[in-house]
Amino acid sequence: MKLALIGVGQAGGKVVDALIDYDRRTQSDYIVDAIAVNTARADLMGLRYVPKSHQLLVGTSRVKGHGVGADNDLGAEVTAEDVGDVLSMIDDLPVHEIDAFLIVAGLGGGTGSGGAPVIARELKHLYTEPVYGLGILPARDEGGIYTLNAARSLQTFVAEVDNLILFDNEAWRRTGESLEAGYSEINTELARRLGVLFSAGETDGSSAVAESVVDASEIINTLASGGISTIGYAAVELDRPKRGLLSRLSGAPSNAADDGESMNRITSLVRRAALGRLTLPCEIAGSERGLVVVAGPPEFLSRRGIERGRTWLEEETGTMEIRGGDYPVESNFVAAVVLLSGVYNVPRVKELQAVAIETQRDMLAKRASSAESLDKLVDSGDDRLEPLF
Ligand code: GDP
Repeated sequence: MKLALIGVGQAGGKVVDALIDYDRRTQSDYIVDAIAVNTARADLMGLRYVPKSHQLLVGTSRVKGHGVGADNDLGAEVTAEDVGDVLSMIDDLPVHEIDAFLIVAGLGGGTGSGGAPVIARELKHLYTEPVYGLGILPARDEGGIYTLNAARSLQTFVAEVDNLILFDNEAWRRTGESLEAGYSEINTELARRLGVLFSAGETDGSSAVAESVVDASEIINTLASGGISTIGYAAVELDRPKRGLLSRLSGAPSNAADDGESMNRITSLVRRAALGRLTLPCEIAGSERGLVVVAGPPEFLSRRGIERGRTWLEEETGTMEIRGGDYPVESNFVAAVVLLSGVYNVPRVKELQAVAIETQRDMLAKRASSAESLDKLVDSGDDRLEPLF
């Protein structure tokens, strides 16, 4: 499946960089083009793979390239003011080659949190291709303002995109690790999951099991549930000698695979992917739609295994709308990716919503009490203040 990526804010740009890095290293080739939008010049300068010509600094007349802090109202305002520039940069991309847009942003900060929904709304008006979001939730200890920004942005972003894939930093960061090293590692994990999923729809269909290969329309149909999505992943290294040049040239099968073993391997991988750590931890029961992709060397992609994994996921999620297929790729691993779409039993999202409500209530109460104190001050001050004239 071919995508154009739009990274907004610091996390947005860095994650897009990581996705491009993975795409190039594995020659997955699902990214047609990418741009990065930011209000902070320094953040853009740190990008390695999004070329300068595809980087856009917005809000310069207001914030002079210094960013918006964690003010997501300001992030939204300055992006809206300069959205014409964003759209003309997107217009220069080969949009006719893509199946969808993916807008990537950290939801806890200011630029991505405020700006990503603004860009999504404009793209939805202008293009017929689906517009997906990839939102990153802040870790709990990042502070109240990050939580509040994420809660607010989540509400707007999910309403503007066709589907919002979420990644929760809280579930992925490791204690005792520097923030930067931690991010780089989790960005790689995220890139691997999206890489296998989206490049799955990109095979040429020439393999022996081509009829069961996942194509772009299956990914699009799964995401068409709308709402929020999460992704699971599991992989296992094959215990076999690496293929020599001779056998590759002769086209001989690398190693006769035992179908029973391949089937069990795949069923267990699908279970591990769905029940292990998801990009957004949630109850998988109650997902609206799902997609199982099994990637690996063609002779290890047991159709019965994929079918059993798919049926198991139908039972676990309680929905009949589970698609499944394979992604033949020469590798020493077999991997399963499970995309669960339209998930609603998500403790972290409920927690964010509760915090947002509580903070808003607090703010209103504080505002009311400071208005009251001001009134009192003015009342009592009436007696003490000498008239100026
Ligand atoms: P913005 O530039 O104003 O949009 O704000 P940032 O992107 O700097 O921060 C928003 C959120 O993104 C914060 O909650 C950070 O934890 C998170 N974040 C920043 N950089 C990264 C990164 O490289 N990877 C991940 N996963 N999260 C990040």
